Amino acid sequence: MLLVAEPVLGEEEKAALHSVIDSGWITMGNGVSAFERAFAKMHMADDAVAVSSCTAGLHLALEALGIGAGDEVLVPSLTFVATANSVIYCGAVPVFVDIVSTHQPLLSLVDAAAKCTPRTKAVVIMHYAGYLADRDAWCAFARARGLKLIEDSAHAVGTGRAGLSGDATVFSFFGNKNMTTAEGGMVLARDPAVIERMKRLRSHGMTASTLDRLNGHALTYDVTALGYNYRMDDLRAAIGLVQLRQIDDWNARRETLTDVYRQAIARLCPTIEIPFESHQVSAHHILSILLPEAADRRHVMVRMREGGIQTTVHYPPVHLLSYYIDRSPRVYLPITEAFARRELTLPLHPRMIEHHIELVVSTLANILGELGSPLVPQAAKLAAVL
Ligand SMILES: *Cc1c(COP(=O)(O)O)cnc(C)c1O
Repeated sequence: MLLVAEPVLGEEEKAALHSVIDSGWITMGNGVSAFERAFAKMHMADDAVAVSSCTAGLHLALEALGIGAGDEVLVPSLTFVATANSVIYCGAVPVFVDIVSTHQPLLSLVDAAAKCTPRTKAVVIMHYAGYLADRDAWCAFARARGLKLIEDSAHAVGTGRAGLSGDATVFSFFGNKNMTTAEGGMVLARDPAVIERMKRLRSHGMTASTLDRLNGHALTYDVTALGYNYRMDDLRAAIGLVQLRQIDDWNARRETLTDVYRQAIARLCPTIEIPFESHQVSAHHILSILLPEAADRRHVMVRMREGGIQTTVHYPPVHLLSYYIDRSPRVYLPITEAFARRELTLPLHPRMIEHHIELVVSTLANILGELGSPLVPQAAKLAAVL
């Protein structure tokens, strides 16, 4: 089965894990600090906070930036549910904002402006599929309204190194992301005081760590805030350090594969739309396409699976999930809903070869051809020749 996403793990990761195990220290220690320093350096930041997940990082960032009960936070609905959940963890209210268009499925500045109220305190942008949102425009938007700007950069590891534009940026190292630590995340923040607050909150609000006490740097500890256990550990950090060295090569490979997809789809499946322009800056996290209006996506997904190809949907819109419909009146986001109805995610990861893409696209062309879409029979014939 050709999977939508697959981690690249090998001998170097195994060796790194072995040496952590042999060191006798497996929880948060010098390995986590080394990973934080390397990640910060790559992003031209002074420091970073490694956490147990991107979800934990989003929660910490919002809380450390002062978001709390009764505040409203502008969020996309075309995202993973964690983006909005983390706002609710803070006691704040997520306010869903539509996307620009089905061709630019990134948060709309116009709709965000329309949804601001006196209670709006922050905006979370998400770099869908790895394509960077216009961060200068969002900074100006946030500054003009006195809002905190948080980037959910779960799709965008390895892009936009030119420092921080917003108040905090949160990355994910989950197993299907561009680099992985199995579970894990990282937070960058502009204000060193926010970094310090997050470091304390990720470990129960304690003033000293277990390692500090072991090393004799501290004899006891105080707790100064209600914190959490959101720590990363040295095992995961060791994997992360190895992965970090390869992220540029992997992202370059993703870009090449995306270009091959664009050409093959234009040739074989002209009724399919591909969001974004090929020259836009991206980490190419997923290969997202829009099926023709008339196509039955469920049927396409079943038939692709029969052909040995996994496909998924990014995303069921958060505002239409049962929990969100139950907790607040149904909001209407016409462009997000139109996009999500037609979206299909095809396999994309650095272990794929060009031949896989021909296979995926010709299989798709055949399935769409059976459905009798007007432009497709010709594409199906071409696919048969391949
Ligand atoms: C994966 C993902 C998350 C959650 O990341 P975890 O590390 O699994 O908590 C949040 N937002 C987006 C957009 C994601 O893709």
